[in-house]
Parts: sequence; structure tokens; C-alpha cells
Amino acid sequence: MEVSHEARRIHASSIVIDTHVDTVVRWIDLEEDLGVETGNGYMDLPLMKRGNLTASFFACCVGFHHVARGTAIRRALDMIDGVKEICRHYPDDVEVALGACDVRRIAAAGRLAVIIAIEGGHAIDDDLRVLRQYFDLGVRYMSLTHFNTHGWADSATDVARHDGLSPLGRDVVAEMNRMGMMVDVSHASDKVFHDVIEMSKAPVMASHSSMRALVDHPRNMSDDMVRAVAENGGIVCVTAWPEYISRRYWQGLEDVADRRAGRGGANRRANASGSTSAISDLMAMASGDGASGYNVLVDAEIPFPSLDDLLAHIDHAVEVAGVDHVGIGTDHGAVRFDLVDLEDCSRLPVLTEALVRRGYGEEDIRKILGENVLRVMEDVIGC
Ligand SMILES: [Zn+2]
Repeated sequence: MEVSHEARRIHASSIVIDTHVDTVVRWIDLEEDLGVETGNGYMDLPLMKRGNLTASFFACCVGFHHVARGTAIRRALDMIDGVKEICRHYPDDVEVALGACDVRRIAAAGRLAVIIAIEGGHAIDDDLRVLRQYFDLGVRYMSLTHFNTHGWADSATDVARHDGLSPLGRDVVAEMNRMGMMVDVSHASDKVFHDVIEMSKAPVMASHSSMRALVDHPRNMSDDMVRAVAENGGIVCVTAWPEYISRRYWQGLEDVADRRAGRGGANRRANASGSTSAISDLMAMASGDGASGYNVLVDAEIPFPSLDDLLAHIDHAVEVAGVDHVGIGTDHGAVRFDLVDLEDCSRLPVLTEALVRRGYGEEDIRKILGENVLRVMEDVIGC
């Protein structure tokens, strides 16, 4: 796609934020040097600069297999250290931001900002003291669950054990509100989502969720949920994850997971309505082989969705929530996928071009690219 002068101007002068990337696993598990061009997937620091990806939330995703007591904390600490080590190795390029003002300051200096996040509330090991220490280490949002239900909250892709948030889960959300850590509802069950909306004293975020009206996946959000986030003053950041933006891709992945596990399709489709997801199956199988899982989607050999598929979800989110409550959280990093027309983040100006072509005005484009996230950060974290 040809990028017009107008789109280039808007893109280059905007703060562009991705609210969910898992790229730190490539630094700590795959031992890739992200400070140089890796030629391996969506992002590294040179690609971020070329695409003006001003800031990214680096998710420290405490995988759903790190559930034994103590191991999740250890994994979270290793990942937080990984984010800080990237910044220590490349201080001229990248810096940890603790709030919206930091993001603006770092961007004005022509450098990249990373904001530390945790994905998977089991990382706190059922202990508010651990949560408080994560905040002190710089963590600025926590996704309440990952693929797994844990000690205090139900996941969208696992059995419900707490009917939403447990009493401890409510304490966790209250403590996050008190400290100024954003509450991320992506991956949480619908009941957890509604419990959070009902009790949170601060705007909430969905750091990487797409639209159930387009792809009826339990990980996506219904229109009612999207509207509730808008009423709460929060933000829904649309994910580019192939399984969630394309029904065709989702079905293809279910079939691959079935084949690999030697399972029948009927059983699989029953599961698809709530109890598990194809990708968590495939990741579990990959880690069982001692592999990182980074290439599970590439190896599945299903044609990837395109930028247009992603844009359909952005359009729908804007239609339902209003343009003040939509952002972008691609979910790139832990697993490689190459959206057609947006293969890596250096190509992000094509996203702006596509928004221009769809009739979005300049201010609205800036909001979607990053200003809405900054507003929520200011509201929840402070400057
Ligand atoms: Zn995720």
C-alpha cells in the first residue's frame, strides 16, 4: 500500500503506542539482541524507530504453565529484569517510562519508551505484598489472567472456579486502583470483566482484545463489554492476533491443534466455546517439546490475516465505543505472525494510511495511535 504524504506527516508527528507486545521473551529465552535488526518478526529497536512506534508496553507474560508456587514470581522477575536490561544495553535508544509524562518526554528526545506490564495475575502468587513490589519495580498494568484460571480470577479460556473475581481478586483490583496500576481485562472471563467494571474506581483497559461481533471467540469482547469500557472512561486496544481477528484463521488453528493432539473435531469445537483455546494447546505442546513456541503459528502454515482484517475490528470498536476509547495492542512478540501488509512495525505508517483512506480525521487518528492510551495512563497512574 502506497503511503501518502499526508499519512506520513500524521504518523511521524504522532505518539504511537502498542499496548501489548511480548517481545521481551525473545531477549531472555531466544537470546536475541533486540538492539539490532534481527530479521525475525515484528519488532526490534531499529524497526520500532523506522515505524515511529514511540512506546510499547512490554508484557512480562507469566505463562500459564508457571503455576506452581513461587515459579510465577521468579518468571515475572526474570522478565522485568529482561526489559530493564534491554534499556541498560541501549540507553541512547530506549528507556523505561513510568507514566504518560515520561512517554512524552522520552518521545520528545527522539527515543523509544517501554512501559512494563505483567500478563497473568498468578504472577502475584495470591499475595498483595508481591503486587505492591511489582508496582515499585515499575509495572504499570497487570492483565488479571492469562489463558488460565488461577487463585482469584477466572480466565476466558479456562473453567470458571470463582464465579468471576474472588474476594482476594476484589482486593487485588482495589489495591491496583489505590496504587495507580492499570487493570487489564484482556483474557479475563466475562464475569470477571463485569465484576471489575462494577467495582473499579479507575478507568480500565483491555490491552489486547478484538471484537466478538466479528469473530465469536471467548477471548474477544462483546459489544456490551466494549460499551461498558467506554462508559467507564477506559480503553479497548484492538489486537492483531490472527486467531482473534479472522474466523477463517481461528478455525484453521483449531484444526491444526486437533491434528497435533490426535483429537476429533467435534470434541474440539465443544471446547472452543469456552474451556480452552487452540493457541494455548499448541503452546503447551511446543513447550512440552522443549521449544519456545515462537514459530508455532508460522509452522501451522495457515495464510495469515491482513491489515484489512485488523482494521475491521478497529472500525467496529470505534463504532461501538466511540473514537476516544480505542487503541492498538498487537500481541506480537512471544509468537511470530506476519499480518499481510503489516509484516513488521516499520510498516506502521500503512496503518495510518489505511485510517486516512477510511475517512478518519487527523485528531481521531492520533487518538487511536496513542493519545487515548496516554489519557487513560494520566487518569489512572497520574503524570
Ligand atoms: Zn495475551
